[in-house]
Amino acid sequence: MNMNTKNKRVAIIGAGPSGLAQLRAFEALEKQGIESPEIVCFEKQSDWGGMWNYSWRTGVGKYGEPVHGSMYKYLWSNGPKECLEFSDYSFDEHFKKPISSYPPRPVLFDYIQGRINKSNARDYIRFDTTARWVSFDEESKKFNLILDNLKEDRTYEEEFDYLIVASGHFSTPNMPFFEGIENFPGGVMHAHDFRGADQFKNQKLLLIGSSYSAEDIGVQCYKHGAKSVTLSYRSNPIGVDWPKGIKEVPLLTHFDGATAHFTDGTSESFDAVVMCTGYQHKFPFLPDELRLKTKNNLYPNYLYKGIFFNELPQLIYLGMQDQYYTFNMFDTQAWLARDYMMGRFKLPSKKKRKEDIRKWLERHDAIKDSLDSVDFQTDYIKDLIALSDYPEFNLDKVGEMFKEWLQDKEDNILTYRDKTYTSVVTGTKAKEHHTDWMDELDDSKERYLAFNEEVEELVPGEE
Ligand code: FAD
Ligand code: NAP
Ligand code: MG
Repeated sequence: MNMNTKNKRVAIIGAGPSGLAQLRAFEALEKQGIESPEIVCFEKQSDWGGMWNYSWRTGVGKYGEPVHGSMYKYLWSNGPKECLEFSDYSFDEHFKKPISSYPPRPVLFDYIQGRINKSNARDYIRFDTTARWVSFDEESKKFNLILDNLKEDRTYEEEFDYLIVASGHFSTPNMPFFEGIENFPGGVMHAHDFRGADQFKNQKLLLIGSSYSAEDIGVQCYKHGAKSVTLSYRSNPIGVDWPKGIKEVPLLTHFDGATAHFTDGTSESFDAVVMCTGYQHKFPFLPDELRLKTKNNLYPNYLYKGIFFNELPQLIYLGMQDQYYTFNMFDTQAWLARDYMMGRFKLPSKKKRKEDIRKWLERHDAIKDSLDSVDFQTDYIKDLIALSDYPEFNLDKVGEMFKEWLQDKEDNILTYRDKTYTSVVTGTKAKEHHTDWMDELDDSKERYLAFNEEVEELVPGEE
C-alpha cells in the first residue's frame, strides 16, 4: 500500500462518463497490484452514465431533484465515435465487429457500460444520493459532505480527503428573456427539456441559438416532419447550406402574440419555441470559495491542467471544459487526478501552476476558429497524457478527424453521419450503417446492431 493513500478517502460527485473514468483509473492501478484509497461515488440518479442515461422526465425526478438529463429520443452521436474511443477499451473489444462511425445514444451508452461492467465499480457508487453541500475544514484539511439518501429520505454527513466534482455542465439551462414571450400562445421550452422531435410534427418551429443543440434539434425536427424550422442566431449563423424547410435568421427582438420579430426587420409566426441557448456551470452544493465560476469554454480559469482547483488542489474538477473530445479526455484527466491522489504525480508550487494556467489562457484568447479550437484541445490532452500512463493514442490523427468532421458537416449537414472513419486504437475502418441516417427513424440498439447481421446473412461478404 502506498503510504500516501493509507486511510485516505476520495469522494466523487457524479457517475457520468467523467466520474466513471475516475473509478476506472483506480481500477487500472489495482490490476497492477496497487491498492486504491477508499472511494465513494455519489450519484443522484438511479443508474450511471450521466447524460447517456436517458430519462423521459423533464423538470423534476421521482424524488423531486432537478432532472439531470438533456438528451432526447433519436439522438445520434454528433461526432465520429473514433474521436471519443477509450484507448483502453476499443469499440472492437466491445461490439466484436465493426460498426458505423455515428452510433445512436443507446449504443454509446452500451459501450460506456461495457467497460465499467468489467469491474466492481458499482460497489463504490451510492445511487439515489445527492451531494447537498460541501465545506472544507482548514484545520483537518478535510471536506465535509452533506448527503441526501433520496430513497430513504435520510440526510447524513461524511468526511473526505479529496473531492472529485464530476457533475457535468450541460444540465442547468441558460434561459434568456425576450419581450412578449410570456404571451406567446404555443409551447416554450429549453433544449434541456426537449425529449424528441415527434411532438413538433407539422409545426412551425423557432429555435434560438446557433451551436450544437440548435443545429441538431433543428435537423432532427426537420427529419421527423416539422413543417418548418427557423434558427435565430445572436453572434454568428451556423452558416451551412440548409435544405428547403430550414433557415437561419438574425436574433429575435420580441414576440407579438405568436409572431416573432427579428433584428433584420422580418417577422414570422410560429407554433413553438425551443431555446437552444446553452447551459450554466452550476454547483448548488459548493460554497463560494470552492466553486468553479466559468462560462462554457475550452479552458476554464483557476484549474491547473484543466482539473486541479488552484487554490485547493485536493478539489478536482473533471470534464468542465467545452467538449470536442469527450470520453478519452475525461480518461486522461482522471488518470492524472488519480496519480496526484496516489502521490505519483507531484504538483509544482502554486505560483508555477498559476503561470501554467496563464499560458494556456493566453493561447485560448488567441483562438480564431473551430480549427484552432480542435488544435487547442488536442494539445491540451497531449499535455495531460504525457503525465500519466493512460495508453497513448494518435492524437494528431484524431485532431485531423475532427477537422474532417467539421468539413463533412459544412458539405452536407444531413449526410455527414453517413461518413466512416478509421479507429486510431485498432486500425478498424468503420462499417457503413445499413440505412442512410436521414431515412433511419429508429435509434434502438437492437435495430442498429441486429439488422447489420441480417444484411450480412442476406448478402454474404457485402459491406
Ligand atoms: P454528465 O454526463 O452530465 O454526468 C454528470 C453526473 O453527475 C450525472 O449522472 C448527474 O446525475 C450527477 N450529478 C450531478 N449533480 C449531482 C449531485 N449534486 N449529487 C450527485 N450526483 C450529481 N458527447 C459526445 O461525445 N457525443 C455526443 O453525441 C454528445 N451528445 C450530447 C448531447 C447533449 C444534448 C448533451 C447535453 C451533451 C452531449 N455530449 C456528447 C456531451 C456530454 O456532456 C458528454 O458526453 C458526457 O456525458 C459528460 O460526462 P460527465 O460525466 O462530465 O457529465
Ligand atoms: P453551447 O454550445 O454552449 O451554445 C450555446 C448557444 O446559445 C450559442 O449559439 C449562443 O450564442 C447561444 N446563446 C446563448 N445565450 C443566448 C441569448 N441570450 N440569445 C441568443 N442566443 C444565445 O450549448 P449547446 O448548443 O446546448 O451544446 C451543449 C453540448 O451539447 C455540446 O457539447 C454539444 O456537443 C452537445 N450536444 C450534442 C448533440 C448531439 O447531436 N449528439 C446535440 C445537442 C447538443 P453565441 O454564439 O452568441 O454565444
Ligand atoms: Mg503517458
